[in-house]
This record gives sequence, C-alpha cells and structure tokens, in this order.
Amino acid sequence: MDAEDRSFELEQLRLLEIRLSLREPFHSATGVVAARRVLLVEIEPRDAAPVWTECVALESPHYTPECFETAWLALRDWLAPRVLGQEMESPLELAALLAKGVRGHEMARAAIEMGAWTLLAERWGQSLSTVLGGSRQRVGTGIALGLEKEPAVLVDKARKAIERGYQRLKVKIEPGRDVDFLLSLRQAVGDAVSIVADANSAYAAVDWEIFERLDTLGLTMIEQPLEWNDLVQHARLQERLETPLCLDESVTDLGRAREMVELRAARVLNLKPGRVGGLGSAKAIHDLCFERQIPVWCGGMLETGIGRAYNVALASLPNFSRPGDLSPSERYWQQDIVWPHWTMDGEGWVDVPTAPGLGVEIDVERIEALKVREEVLRARNRVTGP
Ligand code: MG
Repeated sequence: MDAEDRSFELEQLRLLEIRLSLREPFHSATGVVAARRVLLVEIEPRDAAPVWTECVALESPHYTPECFETAWLALRDWLAPRVLGQEMESPLELAALLAKGVRGHEMARAAIEMGAWTLLAERWGQSLSTVLGGSRQRVGTGIALGLEKEPAVLVDKARKAIERGYQRLKVKIEPGRDVDFLLSLRQAVGDAVSIVADANSAYAAVDWEIFERLDTLGLTMIEQPLEWNDLVQHARLQERLETPLCLDESVTDLGRAREMVELRAARVLNLKPGRVGGLGSAKAIHDLCFERQIPVWCGGMLETGIGRAYNVALASLPNFSRPGDLSPSERYWQQDIVWPHWTMDGEGWVDVPTAPGLGVEIDVERIEALKVREEVLRARNRVTGP
C-alpha cells in the first residue's frame, strides 16, 4: 500500500478473545461487569503492517441487542467474507460494504471499519485524530461511577475522583438509588461540580415525580432515562424538563441522530463509535450535531487501551465540547494491553497522540498470553501460497 495508491485490500482478519479483570466490578442499572471478555481484531492488509481494533460488544445484550458472541458470529460469517480480498478505495466504501444487507451489528461492523481509518492514517503518516479532522491537542475527561449501596460510598468515590482531577462526575442511577444519592453528592461536592446522571433506560414516563426532583439538583444532564429505542417519550420528557437530556443507547446511526434532532428528543448526545457502526458514521453524526448546535461527548464501554485510542481520536473533533468517559488505564486495569498506558493529568486532560496511526504500541506479547480463543479468517477462493 503506497502513498500514491488510494486503494487497499484486507488479506486476513484474526479474531481474538482475551479476558481482563476489572480492578473493581462496575454496576449499572442493566447489570454488573466484573471481568471483561474483550474481542480484539488484528487486521492484516496486503502490503502493510497489521492494525488492531477492539469490538466493544459486552458479554450480554443488556446495553444494545449486540453481545460478544453475536459480534464474533457476525464478524466471522457475514462481515469478514464481504470485505476480505476486496479492493476498496476508502473507509467509507468499506463501511458501505459492511452495511449493505446487514441490519444492526453496529459494534461488529465498527471493529473492522475503525481499522481502515488506522490503515489510512499510517499510510498518510498522520495521526488518527488528524485523519478524522480532529482539532484538539488534549481531551477533557470525566469519571463514570457505578451504582453503590450507600450514598456515603458514592460520595467518597466522587471526592477521590475530584481530587484526582476528573472534570465531571457521571453517576449511574436506577429507581431507589437516584434522588437521595444525587442529593447527598450535590451537598458534599457543592454546586460548581458537574454531575451527570446516567439511567441506562431504567425509568418510564410515569416516573415523572422522580424526574421533577432530579430537575432541581443542577445536573449537567440526564442520560438515557427512558426506553433504549424510544425517541418520542424522550422528546416529551425533554419538553417538561429544565435539565438537558442526553441520549446514548437510542442513537445507533445517522438516521436516528436526525430523528433525535427533529423531535428534539435530547439536547446533548453521547457518541460512541462502536454503537453507531464506526468512525465514519460517528463523524457524520458529529457534523450533524455541530450544525444543529447539539454538543457531543464520547462515552465509554469499559474499553482496553486499544478502544480508548479510537475514542480519544474521535473526541478530538471540534464538537466534542464536553468531557468524555476517557479514564486513564489505571482506572479499570492493573495492566493495559498498550504502551504507553493511557494517563490523565491532574486537571483531567488526556493528550491526543500525534504519532502516525493509532498512536499507541500494541502489547502483542501480553495479548497472546491473555488469549483464550482465536480464529483466523482469510479471503475465500484466494490462493494464499508463497
Ligand atoms: Mg450511557
């Protein structure tokens, strides 16, 4: 793949499963994650070095319909065969091939599509951020705090996060662990601290009394309070609330983002490349929101340092004006699978890499040591001899 030649071809995809224990289990309204089954993809192009991506699908389908096993199946049986051995001109052409005749499976599609952007960045000798149109040298970071048994535990963790430099607190909520927890937190940290409540669809429109109370707490936003795929109810709720709503699970592609804008279903968007089918789609949604003055920020999926690299590059785009869930490696992992580990300074900033490509070295030795399953996919009907 030389600089003159725009086209690229993928020769091999290697799917790998590794398991990484979290430093502490993470609780949200839809489940608990204690260890992460991580699906990594090593993408080998013709005439260039391999690149790595991470599929962010969780173990069970509690966040969106996708899960680890469906992503593996989709990659192996439907997605890899349509792109392996194909000559393609751009990541956008690759994305179109992956999406044609395939409904859903956004995270599986993103796991291939994002790699094409890294290939392009390496070929152009530019950082992934630059290739995507990024304009920030560093990105602001907030912490995501899981559900706790007692408000005091939440307050203690929040205080430590503020001391560490995090620019805002995002707190998971569910019925019974919402207003009192957030009120204690607000009283403990004061009015100046930005607090976001993330409900992961744990409420219904009839819970109006709870929303009315949440609306008095000076929250920066309430994320995805209602059904994961319901925009109309969110729009009705947003109309009644002072606090901006933010959507996450509901927006899975550019079309849904347009509907969100038209219906005024939220005033902020949490934008994750995996959830929307890749970086090209994320960039298009970013541009739409920019035009319509809807700020976006990048949420997390308990990624390793590989997924983090894609998120940080995306979050360097101009409309990512709110801190993202871009915690440093030490927040979740004893030891990350990239070098250097992701770090954050004392004021909650993470530097955007400037080196060509992804900007981090993949710790292949450690990945091989952690590997519990692997599958190598090559183009069908292709002669692969010497
Ligand atoms: Mg969320």
